[in-house]
Amino acid sequence: MSEEIKKFSPFDKGIKLVSKPSDLDEYDDDPSVLRAQLSCGHVIDPETLTDCCRAQLEDGQIEFRCPLCRKEWTYNEVRKLAKLTIDEQSTFEERLGTNTVKKLIDLRDSFEDDSHIVSHAAAFLTLHIASD
Ligand SMILES: [Zn+2]
Repeated sequence: MSEEIKKFSPFDKGIKLVSKPSDLDEYDDDPSVLRAQLSCGHVIDPETLTDCCRAQLEDGQIEFRCPLCRKEWTYNEVRKLAKLTIDEQSTFEERLGTNTVKKLIDLRDSFEDDSHIVSHAAAFLTLHIASD
């Protein structure tokens, strides 16, 4: 199976491209490679970002966070900057949905207060509407 390595090109729109070494992967420092600067200010290449976010989803997270500064990355940002393929997008969205449902069930079991559930459900809906 030949999987294309994700790379940025200067023609990518809406992405802040820099030629700085990756903040997340110390071995990823080829100065000829373009990388994206995320909203938190850290520099990551698409492959590392994809792996990093996939690991967070597998960990049951319902939002993405920078492992360095813990700032939140929106799904739209991740989708664009990680150059998620159509397949990856559907995997990520499905996983986000599953994780959210699990979180809701956990919340229902651990909180008497329904407003927590409502606010999480609203956040989930916003995420999905925004990603369309
Ligand atoms: Zn960061």
